[in-house]
Amino acid sequence: MSKEVTSRAADYSQWYNDLVIKGGLADYSAVRGCMVIKPYGFTLWEHMRDALDKMFKDTGHVNAYFPLFIPKSFLSKEAAHVEGFAKECAVVTHYRLKNDPDGKGVVVDPEAKLEEELIVRPTSETIIWSTYKDWIQSYRDLPLLINQWANVVRWEMRTRLFLRTAEFLWQEGHTAHATREEAVEEARKMLEVYATFAEEFMALPVIKGVKTASERFAGAEDTYCIESLMQDGKALQAGTSHFLGQNFAKAFDVKFLNKDNQQEYVWATSWGVSTRLVGALIMAHGDDEGLVLPPRIAPLQAVIIPIYKGPEQKDLIDAKAKEILEDLKSKGIRAKYDDNDNNRPGWKFAEYEMKGVPVRLVLGARDLENHKIEVARRDTREKETVNLDGISQYVDGLLIKIQFEMLQRARKFMEESITKVDTWGDFVKVLDEKGGFVSAHWDGTAETEEAIKEKTKATIRCIPLDNPQEDGVCIFSGKPSKERVLFARAY
Ligand code: AMP
Repeated sequence: MSKEVTSRAADYSQWYNDLVIKGGLADYSAVRGCMVIKPYGFTLWEHMRDALDKMFKDTGHVNAYFPLFIPKSFLSKEAAHVEGFAKECAVVTHYRLKNDPDGKGVVVDPEAKLEEELIVRPTSETIIWSTYKDWIQSYRDLPLLINQWANVVRWEMRTRLFLRTAEFLWQEGHTAHATREEAVEEARKMLEVYATFAEEFMALPVIKGVKTASERFAGAEDTYCIESLMQDGKALQAGTSHFLGQNFAKAFDVKFLNKDNQQEYVWATSWGVSTRLVGALIMAHGDDEGLVLPPRIAPLQAVIIPIYKGPEQKDLIDAKAKEILEDLKSKGIRAKYDDNDNNRPGWKFAEYEMKGVPVRLVLGARDLENHKIEVARRDTREKETVNLDGISQYVDGLLIKIQFEMLQRARKFMEESITKVDTWGDFVKVLDEKGGFVSAHWDGTAETEEAIKEKTKATIRCIPLDNPQEDGVCIFSGKPSKERVLFARAY
């Protein structure tokens, strides 16, 4: 397979696929819409998962696991919820196969029909709230702060590796509270956790906001979100946190005895991020040479490549390189010495660039004589020659610097990609010519939102949380508006 990557300018979406496949993150599978996450991609996901898991635990949450299947009747208990998810459900109807009477393999055994069909979970509110009914009796049982790491299935019609797959991996937090205020506080707190994670680990700046009614999660009273911006100027919803009110408590009759000895329905939240975040990472930082991974979550942070002629030079370089490797590892740096003889140095350079390894160290015979080593950054592709003394210390510092500068660059790009407009003409022009987020007045109605989407494919990504109040007129209807919202074309 060619290691060449399609350039972003030539075909952005092919470029993205090239990075996923040639970068060794994932492959297409035999099942439509489902992907195989390869070891390199899965290690990246594990680092993201571990960091998030720690943040969840630090904020008082614990992990549990609920069934993959949801009885069909559960899904219909919350009207808005079933309405939202019905169109993309995988349904289990039978539990057995039998030999085909015509001798052609196996067929579904019509006698093994399930009494009640099962839905492969698209999200777990219903199965979890049916369980919470048994777990919650009094205010002493609250709050309940539970997270689950799982796979879910949503039968998406248009799929794209990582960004939108039919089966995906995610975490879903499901919490139960005694008051509305506490539940809202929880939903917002987890949004903060997501934003902090995106910025500090993924070097991905985000806008925190709340969705409009039509973009809300099915069954939520409010959906908070973090929105990020990809290099082609399209937005991507990177995470959501929902305030569910008492909707699921009412659907599953989950009440608690409050301190005044009265029965009350429980308040709920749910929040999730998925393997989509891997896609966000690729699209936000990658370049025409391949992946560019932020050091904190990169599977491999530094690679040492030897350049030598003949066994004598190789022995000398090997000895030094192994010493450096041990030194790097002792500092907790994920490092590798690639002394594979089958590949030439140039091939290795291209390979690790493709894989987005943040730092490359090249050790040659002349370097060794001069007590030097070449250090190359993947993000800026800058090279320098550094003294061998204290090299691991140097790399340690460089990884921190790279992490910081990647976030700064991405933040600058995002800030420059938010354009304020006040007329319909400018709105369309900015969307077509510049892309990014367009900050504009909207009259607050679903009709206008829909009409704008119809005409421009742009949706309201969110109403930012720190939005200043400002009198204006809707760019579409001319009706009065009290604040600007952020529009964008999105993935
Ligand atoms: P939701 O439960 O719809 O709020 O989604 C929770 C998280 O999963 C959000 O961060 C979404 O961006 C992400 N997500 C939703 N659908 C998909 C999908 N088909 N593939 C990957 N991630 C998804």
